[in-house]
Amino acid sequence: MDLEAQLRTLALSLGADYFGVADLSSAHDVILAQGGDRVARYPRAVAIGMGLQDSLVDLLRDKDPGGAIVYRHNSYDVVNQMLDQIGVRVANVLQRAGHSAFPVPASKRTDDDHISGIFSQKLAAHLAGLGWIGKSCLLVTPEHGPRVRWVTVLTDAPLHPTGSPIEQQCGACTACVDICPQHAFTGRSFNRNEPREARYDAAACDRYFREMEKKKSVAVCGLCLYVCPYGKKSGSGIRR
Ligand code: SF4
Ligand code: SF4
Repeated sequence: MDLEAQLRTLALSLGADYFGVADLSSAHDVILAQGGDRVARYPRAVAIGMGLQDSLVDLLRDKDPGGAIVYRHNSYDVVNQMLDQIGVRVANVLQRAGHSAFPVPASKRTDDDHISGIFSQKLAAHLAGLGWIGKSCLLVTPEHGPRVRWVTVLTDAPLHPTGSPIEQQCGACTACVDICPQHAFTGRSFNRNEPREARYDAAACDRYFREMEKKKSVAVCGLCLYVCPYGKKSGSGIRR
């Protein structure tokens, strides 16, 4: 079995639903600006995704504290831990094969000023051909919409890219823009050459979570993730 097949089999056997390889060369400057040379020196990324349970994502609609606690535990804490374990296991296989590998933690903020991690998991999945970056700034897959969490392993292994970026398919839909209680989205389509601020006020979303924490309520929102028609089973309601 070749190395890529070995990694794919391992990731899927550990519960992943998505596996892809991205060529990062076209995004080198963006990656360098976000995380520095410690991440920008890797030419490729393995993107691994795990789908969320629809029954739990649908709890977000009701905004009730009990549902929020269950969602946060299973769809955030547990899934992120599983993804981190898959990322470390995949990185170990790459290292044993003689390559350098850097597992990027799932959903781990490393920069409070910019409210971002060291590397964009969504960018890797997008470049691997697994989905597009929607008006919600979430990675939207054709199969499960944004109801997927991601982990990335950066590497210098000579793996072949699994696809090319998918064009945005949001069309005229503005469901995520309209539902956001903080009006955090501008509705602009993703453009790698524009700063995130052109599309998304991350500070507004973050403030919302801090306010919930101050009130001792469960800090969960996710309405932008819940509402995307590509994530709902029927996919109905998409306005192109
Ligand atoms: S999580 Fe909530 S507040 Fe934050 S961007 Fe999404 S809809 Fe807006
Ligand atoms: S809710 Fe609509 S606009 Fe937002 S990401 Fe999904 S398809 Fe795109």
